Formats: sequence, C-alpha cells, structure tokens
Amino acid sequence: MGGTFDPIHHGHLVAASEVAHRFGLQRVIFTPTGVPWHKDRPATPGEDRYLMTVIATAADTRFEVSRVDIDREGPTYTVDTLRDLQEQFATHHPGQPAEWFFITGADALAEIVGWHDPDGIIDRAHLVGVTRPGHQLTDPGLPGGVVTLIEIPALAISSSDIRARVREDTPIDYLVPEGVARWIRKKRLYRKEAL
Ligand code: ATP
Ligand code: MG
Repeated sequence: MGGTFDPIHHGHLVAASEVAHRFGLQRVIFTPTGVPWHKDRPATPGEDRYLMTVIATAADTRFEVSRVDIDREGPTYTVDTLRDLQEQFATHHPGQPAEWFFITGADALAEIVGWHDPDGIIDRAHLVGVTRPGHQLTDPGLPGGVVTLIEIPALAISSSDIRARVREDTPIDYLVPEGVARWIRKKRLYRKEAL
C-alpha cells in the first residue's frame, strides 16, 4: 500500500486490514513515498513519515513498512516501488512464488491511469480499490480483471484534514494511533510556525 502517509491515520489502517482479510494476504507492506510527484506541497521529511508509519503498524504482525521509496532518489513512481519490492522478495525468498496486490483508495485509483507506466503497474500487481467517503469508487477503465473493487467501513479521515486540525489546534485524538499523535506533538509537525 503506497501513500504519502503525512501522517498515517486509521483510514489507511482499516483499508489495509480489510484487504488483508478479504484476500487472505500474509503481509501488507506500507511504502511511504519519497518526493511526492503529484503534490505541489513540500512534504514532511520522509524520515518522520516513515517513523510514524512504523509506529502505527508495529503491533500488527501482518504489517510492515518498506523504505524503498524513501531511500530512492527522485520522484516516486509506483512501478518502481513494485519492482524494488519484488526484487527484494526474490532475493530473500529464492524460488518462492508470490502474488502481489496494490491497495488504493477510490481517489487514488481514479488517478492511476495517469500515473507513470500504468501497464507496468498492472503487469506487476493486482489492483484493489477500496471505498473512501467523498469519492466515487469506479473501475478506472483498465483491462478486465486487473482491478477488484471492495467496500470497506467508511472512515472520513484524511491526512490533509489532520494537518489542518494540528494547525488550528483542533484535536486529532482517535483519528490517528496514539503514538502517531504523540510523534506529531513531539516533533511539532504541521504547526503554523513550521510552514
Ligand atoms: P492527503 O490528504 O495528504 O492526500 P490521504 O489521507 O489521502 O492524505 P494518502 O497518503 O494520500 O492519504 O493516501 C494513501 C492511500 O490511502 C491512497 O490510496 C488513498 O486513497 C488511501 N486512503 C487514504 N485515506 C483513506 C480512507 N479514509 N479510506 C480509504 N482509503 C484511504
Ligand atoms: Mg491522498
């Protein structure tokens, strides 16, 4: 599951957990982006986004976090993410077959056809689009069979809203895991003076 995770919130975690359950996935690998190519806003340091993702997922044995995108120079393209993860997997589990899925919310799925090398993406992973409040979940017009759409419990949470709440001194409790809220406070992320 790719994302800016600026910061990770319970919407991401529910999506990952539901897809893992429905598809019987052994693992969900969260990949925080490097320089976000489709957003013009300067991002929070990759290291903070990575660490918050680790904090949020640490207790779940199905979840892990990969640094492939944080550590790669330049903009993050999902096709590179998948290639790097698959190469790492082949190195560490030689000869072991694996099935790959890429999890996206309705908004990201709608944009995927405009991403770099969509054919490369669908060659490497089955796409799973999940419902997200405020967005229409539709097949983005990719060839038949490469996308599965599933309904998940609706959490109207976004990272943008969390950043705005911190800026405006509105609570973010219960929208993000407690450890993430504490990290945001400790590092003074998203505060007015940091912008
Ligand atoms: P931002 O507001 O900064 O864009 P975001 O909340 O959309 O942040 P991203 O890191 O952009 O979070 O999203 C990563 C992935 O998680 C995307 O595929 C997105 O569609 C999905 N996603 C994010 N929030 C939810 C949610 N509440 N329910 C379902 N999917 C979600
Ligand atoms: Mg988003």
